[in-house]
Amino acid sequence: MTVRCKRGGLWLAAVLVSLGLAACELGGWSVLPGGAGGISAAAAPPVNAAVTETVTPFLPEPVTLTPTASRTPTVTRTPRHSPTPSSSPTPENTPTPAWDFHPAGELTAPVLLYHHVNDQESNLYTVTTTDFRNQMKVLAERGYTTIPISLLVRAVRDGAPLPPKALVITFDDGNRDVYTRAYPILQEFGFTASVYLVVNYLDRGESILSHEQIDELLAAGWEFGSHSMSHTELTRDYSNLWYEVSRSRYELEEYLGTDVITFAYPYGVMDTVVQRSVRETFEAGLGLGTSSLHTPDSLFYLSRIEVRRSTSLADFKALIP
Ligand SMILES: [Zn+2]
Repeated sequence: MTVRCKRGGLWLAAVLVSLGLAACELGGWSVLPGGAGGISAAAAPPVNAAVTETVTPFLPEPVTLTPTASRTPTVTRTPRHSPTPSSSPTPENTPTPAWDFHPAGELTAPVLLYHHVNDQESNLYTVTTTDFRNQMKVLAERGYTTIPISLLVRAVRDGAPLPPKALVITFDDGNRDVYTRAYPILQEFGFTASVYLVVNYLDRGESILSHEQIDELLAAGWEFGSHSMSHTELTRDYSNLWYEVSRSRYELEEYLGTDVITFAYPYGVMDTVVQRSVRETFEAGLGLGTSSLHTPDSLFYLSRIEVRRSTSLADFKALIP
């Protein structure tokens, strides 16, 4: 998997540059969204503003309390698992902030992307448990509350109740250390996450989340999305799009017993054809970026801030509004 991702990073850089969509500098933070491929200008941060503090903070509207607003997912099928994160432990040191209704439209909420959290591997995509805990501590100290990615999507598109500082943590590929290493640390802070699974990786060995572990995470309020059937670069062969995109949703919904409404582009790579396919099947598509600002026009290439082994705590703090 690591090899795939490394290779994918190079492909990503090459493909994105060639598409004029973004420039992803390996080892750096210079993903520069452009205006093509459905990435709106509004969603694109100013060039070279990636690691500065210039991201416009989200200023809530004058309090628009809507006590009748429901947090019930818009999906109508009854999930086998309750999405209610009632089983998540509530740390005593984390006050529960009041949620207010966020009207449809732009929202500033960082979406973080991790791959591996462990102390055994030392590759680009593996964050140590110490670094991961320190990063979560920064988020908790800044008052962030994690929300499922589906709630972020709904808030931007339709409006939805949100905590004062919403955050989404995502993991790509469904690596087992997400359960064995990251999950216990997230529990310390009362955080949940969203995981993007590759259908053909499931039940294929001990490096990937087991079905039981996935069930436990679902019961703890975690959410799962599709990361395609085989983790292929979708822009390379359009004849596989239905299989990689649409079929992955059906297969995952069967596997999970829940609705699957979001898709993470393998290697963060997409073009207008791929994006159209994702739009036909999902409610949002997740990519890469450095912006924490999301708009209705960016829902099919949502910017995710990738955290790597090389990300220092100072880098991390600069990336988070
Ligand atoms: Zn991946």
